[in-house]
Amino acid sequence: MDFEDAISQIRDAVDRQRLVDTAVALIEVPSHTCEAKEVADRLSLLLEEDGFAVERPDAGWPEAPAVVTRWEAGPGGRTLQFDGHLDTVHLPFVAPRIEDGTLYGQGSADMKGGLAAAIEALRILRHTGILSTGSILLTAHDHHEAPWGDSRQIHGLIEEGYVGDGVLLPEYLFDRITVAGRGQAVMEITVRREGDRIHEVLRPDDTPDVIEGAAEVIRGLKALNAELSKTTHKYVGTESAFVGQIHGGEIFNQSPVECKISGTRRWVSGRDTAELEGEFSAILADAADRTGTIVDGTFTVVRDAFQVSEEDDLVHALQSAHTGVTGESLPFGNKPFVDDGNCFSSMRGIPALTHGPAAEGAHTSNERVRIDELVRVAEVYAATAICFCGTR
Ligand SMILES: [Zn+2]
Repeated sequence: MDFEDAISQIRDAVDRQRLVDTAVALIEVPSHTCEAKEVADRLSLLLEEDGFAVERPDAGWPEAPAVVTRWEAGPGGRTLQFDGHLDTVHLPFVAPRIEDGTLYGQGSADMKGGLAAAIEALRILRHTGILSTGSILLTAHDHHEAPWGDSRQIHGLIEEGYVGDGVLLPEYLFDRITVAGRGQAVMEITVRREGDRIHEVLRPDDTPDVIEGAAEVIRGLKALNAELSKTTHKYVGTESAFVGQIHGGEIFNQSPVECKISGTRRWVSGRDTAELEGEFSAILADAADRTGTIVDGTFTVVRDAFQVSEEDDLVHALQSAHTGVTGESLPFGNKPFVDDGNCFSSMRGIPALTHGPAAEGAHTSNERVRIDELVRVAEVYAATAICFCGTR
């Protein structure tokens, strides 16, 4: 069968209502991060009712075991993994509803809608039998959204070997093939001095100034940022050191004992995160030296940077699938946020591409996604499997 025949079989097999029903079934179960047990149980039941075998590994989070389905088309070939998170940000719950071909509700955009599309792709592949070799691994988990979650369950899944040869993540990015993305760390800094708070006119002359210490830290980070911004990297732009928050002092004429700063550090692939942390520590040590303050900080790596070769088979497969389904090819580009795809790349060197519906309102109370988009994603995912799984 040629690829065009496969695409038309996929189109015939996609069941729009079944896809929407699945999305609604997931959205109607509230699942704030670290509270996804009930929705995981719901998904597990749905898949089992559909005849798929389901595994429930704890993967580091026994409160809500992950949901895993392996479906084999035939011996040999590659495994394509569809991975999604079941948890949502901690905003008030919004129940699912459909209006004018658009699905609303918490998680419709981020990312129960996309996950339902991936499940529909799996059903299409099983129903049509057009995939003769290779397999699909579906993984769904909790603990994704920061700061409530710390990604321990995706780490657990990867460490326990629940990985394919390539991964698609149906997050809300649709207009490019994400061949590169920056890593991200959160920087939290505390500048302190010995002694108590005191009226400014009563303080001894040699009292260290924590505001000055904080200013020195910020100056150091700004100088680093200026240096980093001189180098532009393909697709991802520049590395950065960003300060988003500073807080110190109680009233205008009191010498404070503490000042806090926080921000982000972003970098491109190929950097050693221990070195980045060393660079950060040196800035803090320098500020402490210059101002006689005590400066402590944490440099918490959220996700490492990643890069996927433009020649990677998964890139080719997604491109062919997208072109086959929509008639248009996708440009190569940057993944502006960090997501679980970064973990597959940094922990196992597995190519992982984020591609999902053109959904809107992620991380707000007005999430929405057009059902046509979910159908498109289901078709693209099934077609990607045809291109990726068959050859080795
Ligand atoms: Zn998401």
